[in-house]
Amino acid sequence: MFEMLPFLETKREGGNASPESMREFVKAYNAGELPDYQVAAWLMAVFFNGLSQEELEAFTLALAYSGKTVRFPEGLLPVDKHSTGGVGDKTTLVVVPLAAACGAKVAKLSGKGLGFTGGTVDKLSAIPGMSTELSVKEFVDQVISTGCAVSGHSKDLAPAEGKFYSLRDVTATVPSIPLITSSILSKKIAGGARRFVFDVKFGAGAFMETKERALELAGTLVELSTRLGFDAVAVLTNMEQPLGHWVGNTAEVNEAIEVLDGRGPEDTRDLCVEITGAMLYVSKVSPTIAEGKKTAAQALSKKLGLARFREMIEKQGGRLDENILSGKKSLPLGKDTLEVRAQKPGWVSSCDARLVGETLRLLGGGRLKKSDEVDLSAAVEVLKKTGDHVEAGDVLARIYASDEKILKIAVPKIEKAFSIGEEKTQRPGLVWGIRDARGFHPL
Ligand code: URA
Repeated sequence: MFEMLPFLETKREGGNASPESMREFVKAYNAGELPDYQVAAWLMAVFFNGLSQEELEAFTLALAYSGKTVRFPEGLLPVDKHSTGGVGDKTTLVVVPLAAACGAKVAKLSGKGLGFTGGTVDKLSAIPGMSTELSVKEFVDQVISTGCAVSGHSKDLAPAEGKFYSLRDVTATVPSIPLITSSILSKKIAGGARRFVFDVKFGAGAFMETKERALELAGTLVELSTRLGFDAVAVLTNMEQPLGHWVGNTAEVNEAIEVLDGRGPEDTRDLCVEITGAMLYVSKVSPTIAEGKKTAAQALSKKLGLARFREMIEKQGGRLDENILSGKKSLPLGKDTLEVRAQKPGWVSSCDARLVGETLRLLGGGRLKKSDEVDLSAAVEVLKKTGDHVEAGDVLARIYASDEKILKIAVPKIEKAFSIGEEKTQRPGLVWGIRDARGFHPL
């Protein structure tokens, strides 16, 4: 029987547990042998006192190996890319096939959207027939044959992580950097990837609102990965305003196809090239991130990512007709729409990503609770962004839903998301810098 009281006292006093006791602790909680109130007390002690490097390593590995794990053949070291979550962030749909088309092996595990942020599993569900729940065998086989696969995170992988996360969620201990790091990395390790690119976002629509906190998380993720023997880099990116022009599951699939087809908004294309460049670098396909970006940009212009996207979704049962893949048609959105217009002329000084994400949730396109159903066709089209000039009456955003009544409720929130000032505002830079094992490199 695990001795919980001395373990708790050690953390309360700012001391460190041995790797053995950390492993036993995780095992006991996963087996249902420890009451939530004691584990909750430990989480709060970690929130205030942190974890030592040794504790963090032992805790992360214990979570990672608490259930089934995905294993790739010897010598196959796939890359996974993880975003800390954003609004309009459809990069996974682009970078996974694009990196694979450039020679990386990509094993991507994704989640569902929650709160104001979206999730790749929901976006992929907008593709008719697409399976987002691959078995371990299907996942491994597809990475080998197609070079990439995206699947939802099975409950059998790192099950202890899910238990700890549920308790963190109700004890106000989610925003702890060591706990976030172990949560993210344990799931990635269980998923079989051995190289990582973290897109750590900051700003109104990000989990980490300030640049400082984002950099701290990026540093902890990269350093822990490196100590555990995995190549990793983090890209620090701005999430003050939504990425691209579309927010909403079906709408983001349409916009991702545009980018893969060599079109689409510049910010989304640039971020996809940056992240793919980093994926090619950690995968040792390219000697530097800069070279990786060149390779990614060339592949994008030759539409190689689009060809691989088509292959990937077909393998996963998805059916998209030729007109959609060639940009002649789009997947349909909610039939009712409303436009939100500027009340005065000026310059857009902000377009708050969090409020846009919350608007989508109000429209039915997001979740408050994990069990909520999502209307995949709900969308917000963001026509004006920070730095744009507007005249009174110009359309700032268009909202789409399948129920007219919901549209009216969402309007005040989207109106609040936009601020219009009298002075010209600079467009915010998208990529702040790269955190690798050697340190932070601002761009
Ligand atoms: N995302 C995760 O996967 N885990 C956390 O703890 C927080 C965000």
